Formats: sequence, structure tokens, C-alpha cells
Amino acid sequence: MNYISTRGGIMPVNFADAVLMGLATDGGLLIPESIPTVTADQLQNWAGLRFQALAAEIMRPFIGDSLPDEVITDLIERAYANFNHPEITPLHQVGQRQLLELFHGPTAAFKDIALQWLGELFDYLLTQNDSYLNILGATSGDTGSAAIAGVSGKARINIFILYPHGRISPIQERQMTTVTEPNVQTIAVQGTFDDAQRIVKTLFSDVQFKTRYQLGAVNSINWARILAQTVYYFYAWGRVSGGNPDHRVSFAVPTGNFGDVFAGYLAKRMGLPIEQLILATNRNAILTRFVQTGIYAAGDVYQTLSPAMDIQIASNFERYLYYLLDENATAVRTALTNFEQERRLIVNATQRRQVNKDFIACAVDDSETLAQMQAVYDDTGYFICPHTAVGMHAAANYPDAICLATAHPAKFNEAVQIATGQTAPLPLSLQGLMNKPTRQKTLAADADVIRQYLQTTLDNTENYND
Ligand SMILES: *Cc1c(COP(=O)(O)O)cnc(C)c1O
Repeated sequence: MNYISTRGGIMPVNFADAVLMGLATDGGLLIPESIPTVTADQLQNWAGLRFQALAAEIMRPFIGDSLPDEVITDLIERAYANFNHPEITPLHQVGQRQLLELFHGPTAAFKDIALQWLGELFDYLLTQNDSYLNILGATSGDTGSAAIAGVSGKARINIFILYPHGRISPIQERQMTTVTEPNVQTIAVQGTFDDAQRIVKTLFSDVQFKTRYQLGAVNSINWARILAQTVYYFYAWGRVSGGNPDHRVSFAVPTGNFGDVFAGYLAKRMGLPIEQLILATNRNAILTRFVQTGIYAAGDVYQTLSPAMDIQIASNFERYLYYLLDENATAVRTALTNFEQERRLIVNATQRRQVNKDFIACAVDDSETLAQMQAVYDDTGYFICPHTAVGMHAAANYPDAICLATAHPAKFNEAVQIATGQTAPLPLSLQGLMNKPTRQKTLAADADVIRQYLQTTLDNTENYND
């Protein structure tokens, strides 16, 4: 399978190169040249498979001959070996509702499903190419710890994660700073998340520095992440349908960057019998406004109780736009160029009808989020995280929709406490964090200071290939 850019400006590359490229060099996002489809027979046969075997079936046609079959299987087994539930993404019935629990990975949030796999994949591809990768990223919480967990101890990867000093929760901080593998560096910058992000952007735009130190990003745009996330849609469908191809299922998906819900859209295009995709946002509702009005317009970012969805621009939106604009890369490039200037993008009436066939959307505010958390707890004694609550609230009129539970509630116990008066017990992976030794560096929110730190660290790192 070859990969092309949503903006049409690159020569087709194979799966391995697409993974290592991350973002297409013309500024677009990588997508497969065509989307493989599944037959009714395949759906039936896959319904009873364990998660890892199903993942191999789904991924194989996307990977093509980039990786030998036994490597695909082996990397998938490794990626999910650290999950603490044998089903990896089990369904859990709560009252009348089916929840798809996506938080049984090492950092107790759904990003583990993609990043554990991406870590294994990078490790393998870098070894094949005899090359190295130095990941630099800024985090306001969840992504940093999941990215660190995905690559810690990997010989050909170093990771530097910047976070705003004193502005993330103690659990989130400990999840990063207690990883003391030598290839992991956590840096608390004396500033805000925006400062940290600005520093990362500045260093990436220093092309000489970026090339010399083989800097790469960790973000939600890598195609391999999307691919891993389609698996649990198939998995959940198989469990509730028993493999009956006429059985249609709806999903409610809390999303910010359009990553999780795009994976559901991809599953549907592959032929999974999905009835509705319910796109749920918090107050940062650029995506909901788009589905409801056909206007994609950037606004301010608000802090909410579901911080992993506090975003302004949805990084995976461009992939959906590509399909909405009939796979016309020139039209995508024009639309995005306009958006970059005017901060808004408007689709025509025909396209709007298509959007409304593809998604139902709902924005959920903090008080509705808390009420949902409380209602579930009062009715069933089960704790949900605020992101999951956003999805459940959006699905209120769709009792049969499967709701994606994206984080363990104990990661967001402040909100759980407000909603229920109780705190959720910590999962095994988060126990003892407060007593473990930590390693971290506090530095000024200054790009030159951070550049110097990276340079010194990497110049002194044995596995850095200069
Ligand atoms: C990242 C995240 C989301 C949203 O994921 P998208 O990639 O924006 O769809 C939802 N819930 C949690 C807990 C997350 O960490």
C-alpha cells in the first residue's frame, strides 16, 4: 500500500516511510492511496478473534509488503503485552449502556492503544534503517505520559517532553517523571503550556538543528496511530453483533483532534456496519459547530474538566476534509490555504448534507459533564472520567450506542470528587507513583535554553548517531 498527501505534493511512499515521515513534507497529512474494504465473510470470521489477531487482520492490507507478516504479528503482541486486561479493550455494561473501556494500558488512557504500537513500530523501522530518532514534544497532560510509556527503554529513540511547571496534575507529572530510563527526559518549563508549545515550534523551525539532531514530533497525525484506533471499533462490533453483518452499531466518541472519531469513520469506510458516529466535544466545539453549520472556524481555547479535548484546531480534520472533497488534493490545498489566512472554512450545501450523513455532533459543557458523571455513579456505582461523560451525554438519545471510555476515572479524581463526592480507586498502573523516585529538569521557558539542553544531552548520548 502506498501513501499520498492530502495536499497532493509528495511522491507516493510505502507504509514504513509514511510512519517515519509523520507529517507529509508538503504540509499535508498522509493517507493510503485507497482504503481496503472488508467483506461480510471477513467480518463474520473476525468477530471471535482476540484483539491482537484482529489488529493484524485489519492492519495487514494497510501495511502491504512494508513489513513481513511475522513482524506485524510480533510487534502487535509486544505493543499490547503491557495492558492489564486480557481483552485489551473490553466492553463493560453499565446500566443499559455498553462502554468500550480503552484505558487498560500503562498510562490508563486511550492514547496507549496507539502509542504502544507506534513505539514498537518505530523501534523496528529505525533498526532496519540503522537510524535514530529524537522525539521532542510539549504536553498539557495525557499525551506526554503515553508517548513516554511508548518509547521508554527503546535503544534508537530519545524523547524530550516539555510541560508547564506546576500546571499539570500531580499524577500526570509523576507518570512522566518516575520513568527514569536514560532515553527519557522530562523538562518542566517555567511558563505555560503555550510557552512550551512555542518552544517546540521554534526548535522544529530551526531546520539545521532539526536535521542535525534528527528531531521528530509526537502528535496525533501519524497514520499508524489512526490504524491502531480502528481496531477497537471492529472489536466492539464483533462482540455485540456476534459477527452478523446485518447488525449495525452506533458509537459515541469524545474527541478534540478528530483522531478517535476519524478512526471510526475509517472503519465505516472499510465496511464496518456502523449506523451513527456521534461526535462529542466539550465547550471547545469547533468540530460540533462544523457538523451543525458547515462552517469550520477557529475560536478561543477554554479550559474544561475534560482537558485532553481542549484544543482549538483539530489536527486530523484535514483527513476527513480530503474525503469530503472527493479526494481532490487541489481542493484541499486551496481550502486549507484559505483557512490559514481567514481562520474559517465553509463547505457547500451538498458537502454539508454528506457531513450530516457521516456524523451527529453534540457539544457538552462542564455542568452537563458533571451531571452525567453523577448520574452514572448514582445509578450504578461506576465511575467515569469527564471525557467519557462528554460522550455519554452526547449519546443520551441513542441508548444502543456504544460509548468510548477514554480514560480511567482515577486520572481525573478532582472532577470525580466534585461530581460524586467520592474518589475512584487507582488502577494498578497508577499505584505507588507518589513513592517512586523521580527524575526531571526545570528550565527557563526560553527556546535557546532548551536547545542548549537538548544539544548537550544528545552530544553526550552514546546511542546518538552523528
Ligand atoms: C486525547 C484524548 C481524547 C481525544 O482524542 P482525539 O484524538 O482528540 O480524538 C479523549 N479522551 C482522552 C482521555 C484523551 O486523552
